[in-house]
Amino acid sequence: MTARDAQAPFLPGATIGMVGGGQLGRMFALEARRMGYRLIVLDPGEDTPAAQFCDGHIRAPFEDLDACLELARRSDLVTLEWENADVATLREMERIVPVRPGPAVLEVAQHRVREKETARSLGVLTADFRPVRTRADLDEALREVGTPAILKTARMGYDGKGQATIRTAAEADAAWEAVAAQGDEFILEARVPFQMEVSVVCARSVNGETACFPVAENEHRNGILHLTRCPARIPAGAAEQALSVARTLAEGLGVIGLLAVEMFVDPQGRILMNEIAPRPHNSGHHTLEACGVSQFEQQLRAVCGLPLGSPALLRPAAMVNLMGEDAGTGLDRPGVVDALAVPETALHLYGKGSARPGRKMGHLTSLADDADTAAERAMRAWTAMAGGG
Ligand code: AMP
Repeated sequence: MTARDAQAPFLPGATIGMVGGGQLGRMFALEARRMGYRLIVLDPGEDTPAAQFCDGHIRAPFEDLDACLELARRSDLVTLEWENADVATLREMERIVPVRPGPAVLEVAQHRVREKETARSLGVLTADFRPVRTRADLDEALREVGTPAILKTARMGYDGKGQATIRTAAEADAAWEAVAAQGDEFILEARVPFQMEVSVVCARSVNGETACFPVAENEHRNGILHLTRCPARIPAGAAEQALSVARTLAEGLGVIGLLAVEMFVDPQGRILMNEIAPRPHNSGHHTLEACGVSQFEQQLRAVCGLPLGSPALLRPAAMVNLMGEDAGTGLDRPGVVDALAVPETALHLYGKGSARPGRKMGHLTSLADDADTAAERAMRAWTAMAGGG
């Protein structure tokens, strides 16, 4: 790497390399291009959501070292929207170009046990958990953690994939059967009887400046985010705690970029970290319409070493996902007319050519004077889109 002041900002005109070309990369690309940056995406897909808005697309698997090094050589700076990129490969890329967030952050975020151990070492609460490698480990972990519990693969789990609930010890065999083939390291977690799921996206810039978006409240269906409302319906003290957890983790991990932190509010009102992702997050999509800066522009500002924007919520908001099973590709849906007749409602489609159940195809965001009305508007628009064709 040529000698360069590590704090010097990357100015508009610089080329950003993006690992991953999905919808998060697409929304980042739209913001980055608006601000005059060039973008090259690495993704194995043919016509990926992000590549549609990029200056260049290196079409290769994430494991292809040569392709990753080509991305590094053609970029001034590399960022990512896919946190399961190979850490050793990112280290090689880092010899050529800054990679933000760096491989050390990904190493933690890719592994549920490391994630929770790191959280605890920083004084952040989590569900009780035990690492599991073998069937015998599972029995011992169950004795210690108790039931109900959830067995998860330690790696590559997202949107509820690679997980099995164990309600009584008699269900251990079935859970092991369901999950064992999907990995070689696992975690057993106590199932938290949470009041609510919340998340915070925290940005941290090159000089250590941080800025957290307000706490979002999340409702999942089948382990996949369905509806986000902001602000969350939690007491001010719990909201402060959630923001502080996100900031502590972003600082503790030395993130440059974004850190999304998913948390539970337990029955005592305490905040327990569930999962982190060092990238924009589905529960931050409403920031495009509702906040002083969007999470995507904030990622750009943070990784480029520019001043962070204001994450303040300018108007209460709700976001609902359009899944393949609800709305197909989102194209040619007559219901879009009724959806867009709902006041203060925006449609985002990700340009994916084919729909599948469980695939995120787009989302709708509604604004209103309060989050209840915003949620009602978003659901009305969703019903029109999902049922209208
Ligand atoms: P994850 O892939 O860890 O984000 O899990 C997906 C969803 O499963 C979460 O958003 C929760 O709704 C639920 N879940 C995961 N872990 C737990 C837990 N330890 N206790 C209760 N619910 C959980």
